Amino acid sequence: MAELPQSPLMGQMMSQPLLISHIIRHADRYFGANEIVSRRVEGDIHRYTWRDCHRRARQLANALKSLDVQMGERVATLAWNGYRHLEAYYAVSGSGAVLHTINPRLHPDQIAWIANHAEDQVLLFDMNFLPLVESFAPACATIKTYVMLCDREHMPPTGKLPNLLCYEDWIAAQSDAYEWPLFDENSASSLCYTSGTTGHPKGALYSHRSTVLHSYGAALPDGMNISVKDVILPVVPMFHVNAWGLPYSVPLVGAKLVLPGPALDGKSLYELMEQEEVNFSAGVPTVWLGLLNHVGENNLKFSTFKRTIIGGAACPPAMIDKFKKQYGIEVIHAWGMTEMSPLGTTCTLQPRHMKLPEAEQARVLAKQGHVIYGVDMKIVDDAGDELPWDGKTFGNLMVKGPWIVSGYFKGEGGDVLQDGWFPTGDVATIDADGYMQITDRSKDVIKSGGEWIGSIDLENIAMAHPAVQIAACIGVFHPKWDERPLLVVVKKPGVEVSKDELFAFYEGKIAKWWTPDDIVFADSVPVGATGKILKNKIREMYRDYTLPT
Ligand code: ADP
Repeated sequence: MAELPQSPLMGQMMSQPLLISHIIRHADRYFGANEIVSRRVEGDIHRYTWRDCHRRARQLANALKSLDVQMGERVATLAWNGYRHLEAYYAVSGSGAVLHTINPRLHPDQIAWIANHAEDQVLLFDMNFLPLVESFAPACATIKTYVMLCDREHMPPTGKLPNLLCYEDWIAAQSDAYEWPLFDENSASSLCYTSGTTGHPKGALYSHRSTVLHSYGAALPDGMNISVKDVILPVVPMFHVNAWGLPYSVPLVGAKLVLPGPALDGKSLYELMEQEEVNFSAGVPTVWLGLLNHVGENNLKFSTFKRTIIGGAACPPAMIDKFKKQYGIEVIHAWGMTEMSPLGTTCTLQPRHMKLPEAEQARVLAKQGHVIYGVDMKIVDDAGDELPWDGKTFGNLMVKGPWIVSGYFKGEGGDVLQDGWFPTGDVATIDADGYMQITDRSKDVIKSGGEWIGSIDLENIAMAHPAVQIAACIGVFHPKWDERPLLVVVKKPGVEVSKDELFAFYEGKIAKWWTPDDIVFADSVPVGATGKILKNKIREMYRDYTLPT
């Protein structure tokens, strides 16, 4: 950014850099006895406190120093949500190095590509990923040290990795005396690559300042609404945009944190939530399908679960409704992206909405919502001109703010900003109250005879049918209209529904010409590394599909 003018009268407040290390120090000093509970890869439940976490993070910071890891150098992790991963979040960034969280669900070649691009120096990994790490390690030129996140007992007798350390031994040998260094708050703190559905993944390089500001913003009552009174279980992985910032926001408010490890199936999640009295969670829609199925099939109830953030993909209104009506759980629909740390908007009601009939309120709550202070947004047409906020006109969604990327790591993709705004690649409407609704990703929009059809709307309607588990809508070639919608449906187990019944279900709910031209039933749909339905893969699968005429 250009140099800004200075006032002749500057404020006289302490100039204290916003650093990630201060968050863990704060959690230790003021909420030190509050718990962090983890389901470990080892299979058992581990519990300790924010004070213990801070102490071990300091030991890990000393351990990294012993490897001569320098400020700005990248230390990678390949791990589930667990306490050792959390220690790395603080030790790596707090000491001035950069935490690079890698998604283990990526193809090994892609992991190697990312690790090389990031020039990772050290890799910390969960023990169940040992075969995966061994498979890509020969292709990673820069990684000098591998650290397996386990104790001596779980180390392999021999291995293929050069310089393989045992995490527990490694940090046990270190003192817990460590002073977190002070440095410029704009220093890089962590690195996340986008899932790269098109081309190579690109890195979003967060700073201490952006991370701390995002943590404040995310915690706000009309953001994620979290406080020390909550018990918080992030289902969203710590390798997916830093678990949406929860590993920072939770210690910022001092709450109890519950980390589910690799067990993300409905049964394991339900048991952990009940056992630890979890009242708040966060995850993508596909993960909640598993939990709701488990709870429904076994006639279970939630004793403490009260609120959840759902985002990463559009949350079908039927899911919001089910959570509320059957289980009394409030869904906060949220939107964001890797490039936005990730939080952009959340959907909560204002007093004026409270007077609306329930169905109207539900319509508002299905939107992606209002910005969190710090983020600014607008919709523009292809010429870049701003479009009206009328809730109907849709356009390219642009954002700006202190926790939004200004460019990608190492300049990949060139100059990405347009007049200082980041183009999200999403298509949206904004209503007069400033509530945004995503109609589609621009690459998923269905263009029928020059007009756009929003695939999310069509999916949301189908998902409201009791027999539909998943609905994905894509555009397929049509000789007259260029593209027409094809709906791919996965039925709920043991429930039947016919094409005609589903077509009838659309009647009166949308403009007739939006109705899908055809419906196909599938056993499953491809889901990507962050739990999202891969529309590009579905488009490939049905590329030659002939629509009925
Ligand atoms: P990637 O782009 O790597 O898949 P992100 O997790 O950053 O990973 O995904 C961001 C995109 O996910 C957004 O640009 C948007 O298309 C989609 N998305 C996120 N939250 C929502 C939501 N609540 N509703 C609809 N789409 C969403």
